[in-house]
Amino acid sequence: MSHPSTFQLFSGVYGRSLDCSQIVSLPVPIAVSSCLMGEAVNYRGVANTFESLRPLFQLGEHIQWIKFCPELVEFGVPREPVNISGGAGAEVWSGKAKVFTHSGVDVTEKMKSGADQLLGLCKRNAVKIALLMEGSPSCGSHWVFNGEAWPEKQRIVGSGVTSALLEANGIQVLSPADEKSLGEFADYIRSLT
Ligand code: SF4
Repeated sequence: MSHPSTFQLFSGVYGRSLDCSQIVSLPVPIAVSSCLMGEAVNYRGVANTFESLRPLFQLGEHIQWIKFCPELVEFGVPREPVNISGGAGAEVWSGKAKVFTHSGVDVTEKMKSGADQLLGLCKRNAVKIALLMEGSPSCGSHWVFNGEAWPEKQRIVGSGVTSALLEANGIQVLSPADEKSLGEFADYIRSLT
C-alpha cells in the first residue's frame, strides 16, 4: 500500500504539514525531547508519557532516536520553571522577547545555548525531523505559555526557543499532542521497510 509523503499536522488547525519526502532510507534519525523517552528531566524531575507515541516506539530499530534536553544541559534538574515574556520562541531569537524564571531571573542566553546545542547535534546526525514536548518554553511547537502575568500564564500560538531554532534551520518539529499525524508518520516509515 502506498502512503502520501506529506501529512497535515494537528488536524490542520495551524495550517502546518509534515513533508516526509526526504526520508528515503532507514533508520530515520529523529531528535526527541529526553523527557518523552522516559527520562526524569523536566523541571520537577519527572518524565512525560504519551500514548500517542506508541506507534513510533513500536518501529524499533527503524528509528534512530537522538535524545536531548536543552534545559537540562543548562540548568540541571530539578530547576525553576521558566516562561517566555513578550512573544514565543521566534521572538526570543529576533530579540523582541526574553525568558525569565518564575522568580524573575533572565535566562534568555542559557535557553538559546541549550537550543544551539541541540541544533548542532541535529546537524551532525543529518536530522530532518524532531519530536519535541508540546507547550514547553523550549520544546513546544504549536503553543507555549506566555509569562507576561505569571502565575496567570496563558497559552499563545507559537514555538518554544529550541523548536523555533530547529524550524528556522529546516528541521520539522512534531508534537506528541498530534496523535493522528504521529500514526500516519509511523505508517509512512513502516511502508519503507
Ligand atoms: S526542555 Fe524539553 S526535553 Fe527538557 S524537560 Fe522540558 S520539554 Fe522535556
